[in-house]
Amino acid sequence: MRYINLDQLELPDGWQVRADAAIADEPGKIKDHSDVWRDLKRPLMKLSHDKCYYCEIVQERSDGAVDHFRPKSKYPWSAFSPSNYRFACTFCNSVRSDKESEKTGGKEKNFPSMMRISGQLAVQMRQMRVQFFWTRASQTNPAL
Ligand SMILES: [Zn+2]
Repeated sequence: MRYINLDQLELPDGWQVRADAAIADEPGKIKDHSDVWRDLKRPLMKLSHDKCYYCEIVQERSDGAVDHFRPKSKYPWSAFSPSNYRFACTFCNSVRSDKESEKTGGKEKNFPSMMRISGQLAVQMRQMRVQFFWTRASQTNPAL
């Protein structure tokens, strides 16, 4: 995980007013206001130097997402709090499961998901890094 100082996150003009209005709405309508947190994607990317908070890989082709560190389904009051936002790659911010082994990976709805799957996630992140650097190396040196 990367350290990011969220106090330095630059909020667009009028963002806090929109966030306050969104949090005042019914808890079941949180996703109706997803544009509020999506508007912080670019500032979060900038603050994170384009690196995923979880795997620390520079995101060149990922959709990149504003991840809710504390899931909005369990912590609806933090859905519009910038201190709860992290820039995350698609891989780290997605729920994945293997039906044969019944193993799950990636983001889960239960907090703290990172602690429960930390061993498995560490292995996956190592594999991702190897694959990433291999892909990069083979692009710059087709002989590889
Ligand atoms: Zn990631």
